[in-house]
Amino acid sequence: MGQPLVVDANGASGFDRVLLGSTLTALPVETLSAAEMATLVFMREEEKLAHDVYAQLDARWGANVRVFGNIANSEATHTEAVRQLLVRYGLPDPASALATGVFQNTSLQLLYTQLVASGTLSLTEALRAGAAIEEIDMMDINTALLAVDNQDIRLVYESLLKGSRNHLRSFVATLLNHGVTYVPQYMNVVDYSAIVATAIER
Ligand code: ZN
Ligand code: ZN
Repeated sequence: MGQPLVVDANGASGFDRVLLGSTLTALPVETLSAAEMATLVFMREEEKLAHDVYAQLDARWGANVRVFGNIANSEATHTEAVRQLLVRYGLPDPASALATGVFQNTSLQLLYTQLVASGTLSLTEALRAGAAIEEIDMMDINTALLAVDNQDIRLVYESLLKGSRNHLRSFVATLLNHGVTYVPQYMNVVDYSAIVATAIER
């Protein structure tokens, strides 16, 4: 089966819409558990958060670095991929009527506000906010995967994980270019080191 995630030279990792569509169509629509449903609702908004924060930070720092704009585009395809899963299972989209920077989930709303505030202070803080989002995203997807056995959802979540590993590498490398060695804020050091010690995954 084709890999629907497309990775550019800088590590920005977004879904090819057509390839994702054909990949999902080839998989069965299986029974959806309540736990699986809850992860879809949450991940739809968490991937939206990544996009919305990066879009804000690109508006602030886009003249200095391109990483936020590049990765914001990838995140738009991530939240869209989760929306596609919601459509497949006939579920309402929690983000259908939400403006940029607005979330139904109160924890994600708070996280958005905090990260945009810190990321506006300096470019280094903005890049640290980006790395933090990728760490949090990976931890939440790994937790979600414990509750998911449907093949289509697993495929999207595994791709999101790979995208987050690449995005983390991009933010860490950009920080290093600015003289800052990133220290993980959420993940354990062993898991973090294993990711940043390896090259961008294609
Ligand atoms: Zn993502
Ligand atoms: Zn990402």
